[in-house]
Amino acid sequence: MKCKRCGKKAIANLRAYGIALCEECYPEFYIRLVKRSIKRHGILKESERILAAVSGGKDSSAMAAVLKELGYDIELLYIDLGIGEYSKESERVVKDLSKNLDVKLNIVRLKDYGFTVDEVARGMRRKTCSACGTAKRYIMNRFGRESGFEVVATGHTAEDIVSFYIKNVAGGAKVWAEKLMPRNEPFDEKIVARAKPLFEMSEKENMLYVLVENIPYTLMECPHAPKPEWKEIVYEIERRKPGFVKNFLRGLVRPAEEFDETRYCKICGEVASGEICAFCKLRMRFEGLR
Ligand code: AMP
Ligand code: ZN
Repeated sequence: MKCKRCGKKAIANLRAYGIALCEECYPEFYIRLVKRSIKRHGILKESERILAAVSGGKDSSAMAAVLKELGYDIELLYIDLGIGEYSKESERVVKDLSKNLDVKLNIVRLKDYGFTVDEVARGMRRKTCSACGTAKRYIMNRFGRESGFEVVATGHTAEDIVSFYIKNVAGGAKVWAEKLMPRNEPFDEKIVARAKPLFEMSEKENMLYVLVENIPYTLMECPHAPKPEWKEIVYEIERRKPGFVKNFLRGLVRPAEEFDETRYCKICGEVASGEICAFCKLRMRFEGLR
């Protein structure tokens, strides 16, 4: 397999785009995609101070690296949730990341608020993930506001958004649009804007970027996280229908089309989307053929 741009040996075959790229051409391609997505959806403003929330995983490491590369004004935030060895390893990685990118790292420890996620897990097993999510959102917003940041950016990916949507729809739950949007403006002065600069990027694309650019990340996973069943279903659909995740996402974020006044077909008088209804157009085409 050869690089479509330069002909060297390709390292990745991007089925969603139908192209293969080499080690040198891939980062350029990736950065350009992120840049275009940020512009198109108004995810970040040129001059604002951005707090990039990093977990040590490939996605948020890729996000921090690409934002820095694109010249945004960023600092990192790592939240020590107190999850045993996992938190220790994640902290080592984000410290590395901060050095590697030459970007300031801020660390907030949940323990300083009186508890850890490991303690939550011992006390109320089933609710651990939602409690952890509450703690992360609280700290991101409070630290962000108190430190004068205009927006908090997270490393959510296209698969995160699509699997979240499908899981909720399949479970009969209403899906709040904010969760799907690439940027949410504050509805109160105590709230900091939230952005997902990688919301159109796939996990595979982020992984390739951190690998090719030698950006620090860890493969370690949270010991309390349940099996990502809906994610796996989404991977499986993508495997069978390349491009599914990106197309689905595009459909989710597209604003609903506005309806003007109802129109009527000038031939038969039924409801039509144009001057003549689709049925009359069809009839006219075939009428003469008999
Ligand atoms: P998750 O909810 O674990 O899927 O993570 C979603 C996003 O939240 C990540 O991409 C990060 O931007 C952010 N995040 C997760 N864990 C942490 C953490 N411990 N500290 C800071 N940010 C985090
Ligand atoms: Zn190439």
